[in-house]
Order: sequence, then structure tokens, then C-alpha cells
Amino acid sequence: MAQPVPSSCETLIIGAGMSGLAAGIRMAMYGHDVLIVDRHSLWGGLNSFYKKAGRPFDVGLHALTNYVDKGVRGRPLSRILRQLRIPYEALQLGQQWGSESAFPDVKLEFSNDFELLRSQVAAEFPNEIDGFDRLSRLLAEYPDLPTAGIPVMARTRLAEYLSDPRLVDLLLLPILYYGSPTPHDIEWQSFVVLWKSLYEEGFARPRGGVRTILALLRDRYRESGGGLCMNSGVAEILRSDGRAIGVRLDDGQEIRCQRILSSAGLVETMALCGPELAAEYAPAKRAGRMTFVECISLLDRPLEELGHRKTITFFNTSERLAYEPPESPFSTTSGVICCPDHYEGQEPQHEPALRLTLRAHPEAWMNMPEAEYAAQKEKAWEAGHAAILPFAPDIRPYTQFVDTFTPRTIARFTGHAYGAVYGSPQKSPEGRTALEHLFLCGTDQGFLGIVGAMLSGIAMANQHALGAAASS
Ligand SMILES: Cc1cc2nc3c(=O)[nH]c(=O)nc-3n(C[C@H](O)[C@H](O)[C@H](O)COP(=O)(O)OP(=O)(O)OC[C@H]3O[C@@H](n4cnc5c(N)ncnc54)[C@H](O)[C@@H]3O)c2cc1C
Repeated sequence: MAQPVPSSCETLIIGAGMSGLAAGIRMAMYGHDVLIVDRHSLWGGLNSFYKKAGRPFDVGLHALTNYVDKGVRGRPLSRILRQLRIPYEALQLGQQWGSESAFPDVKLEFSNDFELLRSQVAAEFPNEIDGFDRLSRLLAEYPDLPTAGIPVMARTRLAEYLSDPRLVDLLLLPILYYGSPTPHDIEWQSFVVLWKSLYEEGFARPRGGVRTILALLRDRYRESGGGLCMNSGVAEILRSDGRAIGVRLDDGQEIRCQRILSSAGLVETMALCGPELAAEYAPAKRAGRMTFVECISLLDRPLEELGHRKTITFFNTSERLAYEPPESPFSTTSGVICCPDHYEGQEPQHEPALRLTLRAHPEAWMNMPEAEYAAQKEKAWEAGHAAILPFAPDIRPYTQFVDTFTPRTIARFTGHAYGAVYGSPQKSPEGRTALEHLFLCGTDQGFLGIVGAMLSGIAMANQHALGAAASS
């Protein structure tokens, strides 16, 4: 039964995605009066799940990054589990079989053992290995979490260690695809976080996919006494003297609170704060524009039978790395091929699957007439699978069912402007906004991906709601 919407709470969290749920658990565990509201009927945000034609789909899960073995302490994933009091075994993780960053004439394989990547660099770029070693030593010393500082772009810093632009492109390809809101490059702090989570730690997948993680988070939140109201969109953040004091929901109901933590995104949150802030943070000025089309194909046989054993292939078909919003609705010149069944101990959720992610135009899909929208999705599937033939087998003859999501789907189900997956290029490491008592968590605080979003929720709950109580 749906929970009645209360008229007040101590902290209100906008969004029941990974960051909102993690923040909520942390607060509820300390007896804080916390309420999460979300506009949608299902929790999970960018990483939710659904059923189509009786088949279960995950929205976004390619990989859980930051893999650690059981018992390893002090790493991002072990810290999250400890802080949320979730046992390691409950995630039922299977490690990746192995992934690659591939251009037509050169590739680098990598796995959850950093030595594989190092040996590939030594073999393909022998003149660069000393610089690569110096770079990896530097990065290993960095803290796991982004810190505030003067923004500098990764390509500028990488040039101090590596002189071959092809090696830089190969190393950047997976990192940009898994976290950059900026075309061609990424801010250095985000690069460091992603380097650690992709290359030093690596990929795993929970048995059962994203449903396993979300069920753990939702149950933990409810057991701890947190309130959750789905189908409850925030239409406006109520303000007084430069402070946030509550929200008005889409149906007009008001909830008063002492503070708000929003995972809706920077421009999306400021759009709720009255015309002046909405204009200052207008999407055209501040929103990210990196967004994607993803085709999920269900096959009549395992990909292994077609000779493909990679877990994730980040591919680029041209000489230099292509990572910018395309001029056309989608581009096939680079992308991600993910085989979600290629993890230890995993079985297909239904039929074997292949997920193909391509860059998409941030506006073209939004107002397309339905017939054209359907035709463009079909075109993306056909052209995309033709383009990846140098990197993966032709799955088209074996495909039983296809579902494709677009920037329009992402915008509709998560409210993110332009369907931008990695938020705004402008991050807020302290989570502060132009209004007192209104804080950000999640992607626009500067933490990326599922693990990043959960870390962000925990950090912002500790910092802005729990204070000294959370230092235990
Ligand atoms: C296609 C795709 C693939 C991905 N693959 C991976 C992957 O393999 N591994 C990985 O680690 N990460 C992946 N990600 C990224 C990951 O999903 C996100 O970084 C993470 O889920 C962000 O969580 P969040 O809580 O910050 O925000 P969100 O998930 O965006 O949650 C925000 C929530 O706020 C709600 N909301 C917004 N506005 C309002 C409002 N006005 N009122 C009420 N509610 C509102 C939304 O409905 C949403 O539920 C992927 C993302 C996509 C789209």
C-alpha cells in the first residue's frame, strides 16, 4: 500500500536512485526523520529495471565498478557496504571475464588484475611504459574521492607522462564512456576516480543484475525506518530568506523540512527554485549534453558460441577517439559493447543479451514524431551492429527481441535535461547550492556510476545531516 505523504520531516531527499537511497539509509540508521520522494513509480533512477514482453531488463547496468575481494577493507565498495551495513555476500558478485579498449589496429585488454593492462601497454607501446608506470604510481597515491581544487583537464595532465596520443586515446576511451559529461576530455579529479574504479579495481556484476542491489537498498532503508513516497514529484522547492524550507509536490501538497538533499541534478534542482535561479542555471547554459542510445538485443544462443568472450568492449572506428554529441541522431564511430552474461557464475536473466551503447544527439530525439522515432531506433540497431563487426560477431541473424532506449527515455524517466547521463560539467564537491539548506548528491556532486552515486549519498548524509553522529 502506498505510504501517505507526511506534512513534515527532518530531511527530505529528492530521488530514489542509488544516491538518494544510500543517503536515506544512512540517515534512517541514525534515527533521523527522513523522507525520500520520487516522481516515478519504480526506484533506481538511471539504474532501474522494467519488463517488456514478459522479459526482464535492467535499464543501465553494464558493470558494477570498484570490484574488491571479500575481506579487503578501506576500498570504496567495502566502505559503502560497511556504512550501509550490507553484507558482502548479499551482492552475489561475479567478476568480469575480461574487457578491452579497441581501435581498428590496436587494442588494450584489461581485467580486474591491473598487471594485464600494464603488460598490454608494455607490449603495444614499449617506449611509453616508463611514463605509464610513473602515472600509475601517481594515481595509486591519490585519495579515492574527488577533492575540491582548481579544475584541470585530464589530457593536459596525461601529456606530462605519455607522449603517444594513441595510448592516451586508448586509456581515455573507457573512462570517457563511463563518466565524462565533457566532449573529448574529462576533468582530472573525475579521471582519477574512474581510473581507480575501472583499471585498478575493475568490473563485477551482481547475480540477478540491478534488481539485487536495489532490493538490498530498498529493504535496508525500510527496515531502518525511512519513509518512501513514489509517484511524488517535486514541482517546487519552497524558499524563505535564501533558504530551502520545504517542497510543493506535483499534486499541490506541501512538505516542510529542515534540509533537502537533491539527486535530481544541478540544473534540474535549480529549475525548481523559482524563475531567477532557474534562468541562471538554464540547461542551455549549464547542462551536460553527453547522452546515449542503447540497443539491448536478446539472442537465441550465447555469444560464446559465436566466438566472443569479452565482457565489455569499448570501441572506436576512426584513427582518433570520437567522444562528442553527434550531428545526427546517433553515431556509430565509437561506443560500448557489453555482454552482461560474461561474468563469473552468472546466468542470462532471460535469453543471452548484448547491449550496444552509441552516442546520441541531445535534442534530436526529444520531439520526433512517433513513426520517425521508431524508425530511428531501428536504424541505430541496424547501423550500430554493422559498425561493430571489426570488434564483435554479427548477432543480427540470432536476435530474438530488441529494446532500445534513447535520450528521450532517459529524460522521461529520470528528469535529466537532454537525457544527459553524466550530468553537468559543473560539479559541486561539497554538495552546496545557491540556497542554504539545499544540497546536491549523486552525479552532480562529482561522483559517478552506481558505486560513486552511493558514496556520494553517504558522504552528503554524513556531512550535511548527521555531522558528528556519523563519524563512527
Ligand atoms: C544507459 C546507462 C548505463 C549505465 N551503466 C552504468 C554501469 O554499468 N555502471 C555504473 O556504475 N553506472 C552506470 N550508469 C550510471 C549510473 O546509473 C548513475 O551514475 C547513477 O545511477 C546515478 O544515480 P543518482 O542517484 O545520482 O541519480 P539518478 O539515478 O538520476 O536518480 C535521480 C532520481 O531523482 C528523481 N527525480 C528527478 N527529478 C525529480 C523531481 N522533481 N521530483 C521527484 N523525483 C525526481 C528521478 O526520478 C530519479 O529516480 C549508467 C547510466 C545509464 C543511463
